[in-house]
Amino acid sequence: MDKCTVIQFQYDNFPPLGALYLAYGLEKEGIGFETRIFPAYKYGYDLNKLYSFLADSGDILAIGCYSDFLPYLIVALKKLKKRFPEKVIILGGAGPTEVAEEIISAFHFINFIIKGCGVYLLPKLIKRIQSGNGKLDDIHGLVYRHNNALVSNYYKGFYLNIPDLPAYHRIENIRLYDYFAIFTSFGCPYSCTFCSFRLVSPRKLIYRDLDEVIKEIKFIASIKKHKKFYLHIYDEAFVVNKKRVIEFCNLLRLEMLNMSWDCYGRINDMDEELLEVMSKSGCRKIYYGIESGSNETLREIKKGFTIEEAVEVLLLSKKYIKTTIASFIFLFPFEKPLDFYYTKMAYLYLQAKGINVQLHPLNPVKNSEIYLKYKKDLFQSKEVPSSYWPTFDLMPKTCVKLIKTYPEIFYYYYCYNFEHLHKILNSADSLFTPKYTKNSKRKAKNEAVRGSVGMG
Ligand code: SF4
Repeated sequence: MDKCTVIQFQYDNFPPLGALYLAYGLEKEGIGFETRIFPAYKYGYDLNKLYSFLADSGDILAIGCYSDFLPYLIVALKKLKKRFPEKVIILGGAGPTEVAEEIISAFHFINFIIKGCGVYLLPKLIKRIQSGNGKLDDIHGLVYRHNNALVSNYYKGFYLNIPDLPAYHRIENIRLYDYFAIFTSFGCPYSCTFCSFRLVSPRKLIYRDLDEVIKEIKFIASIKKHKKFYLHIYDEAFVVNKKRVIEFCNLLRLEMLNMSWDCYGRINDMDEELLEVMSKSGCRKIYYGIESGSNETLREIKKGFTIEEAVEVLLLSKKYIKTTIASFIFLFPFEKPLDFYYTKMAYLYLQAKGINVQLHPLNPVKNSEIYLKYKKDLFQSKEVPSSYWPTFDLMPKTCVKLIKTYPEIFYYYYCYNFEHLHKILNSADSLFTPKYTKNSKRKAKNEAVRGSVGMG
């Protein structure tokens, strides 16, 4: 029987939930497999390390990744498939999902892409591959080639199908982790125009039963043998339902677990009562996507609050929650120097008040409202930095060539071109430190949060 390897990139210091959920699904179906985690937080974007890591894998490879790793992954997989043509390659996750049809059309060495949540679909696909059953048209969201033609099965969107407990036992030395992550709900009711999450996920939130959530947290506490640990709540819209958050906090307090937690907040969903309850139940960090100091930009991106409201809530949050983070974005294609000046002022003011402030260049997000409107103006620039990946002069030439050849696949490495781009870039210089540049390997001075969508 073909040996199967599930591979996931690990960016943060907590166990990668995606791989653990896939492991849950595969175990449930009795499929033999190994889970391997590529430590992206340690190796960074190292093509050679990635290739050696992949080369040492099973006959069926199921790989989940974000958009940033796609060029590296595609280059490494091309080489791998040349050496081991019999390997079956399945991609999934947020990066490949957005451009599944384009990848399958352009790169014939990739066999399948599963769009959306693969917890129940991956086992189904692997069983068909292993049994030689060629029927694939009933696997939702599957993209592949049949008789050299592209086939894209019905896809209803990215609905996370959360099983009871992720397969934590699949991670070696799980006890050594201090940070864990959890989902309590899925979906987002908001419509920020730079984000595409609302297009592929439910607007009406899907909630997990809070008793199940607490059971999972208690399980993590037992892994840690009741030593102190930190929990990151992944939900995009955790604070939307105040009543439920208060209930969650009360349940947590009853359990008296040795932990603290963090989550994404949203300015227009917060009030003092909520912050106080969250703080009392161990919330020590909250992350807000403010995006701009300009009310005109906030209106344009449909954020749903003003900068004045944002400042008020941020200062209130700081009163209750030790680490309050405010993230701003710049290089919106309609941004004027005055808009960025307001962002800069808000940044400096909040920083002086003890808020952790971040500034990130805008990344194009496929199918977001902004992308659809301005995609004709996308261009590649050596000057526009990224919060996450290396500048082009630090990338392997093969990756840069790929990005240039297939802009519709690697759009994430492009930026919007607009009248005031260079003026704003110059003005942002002192506030923004890219993580990887040719002359300096300085770490970003601000804490970066992963993801191709803005949060909160
Ligand atoms: S940026 Fe956050 S709040 Fe806005 S639509 Fe995306 S996930 Fe929802």
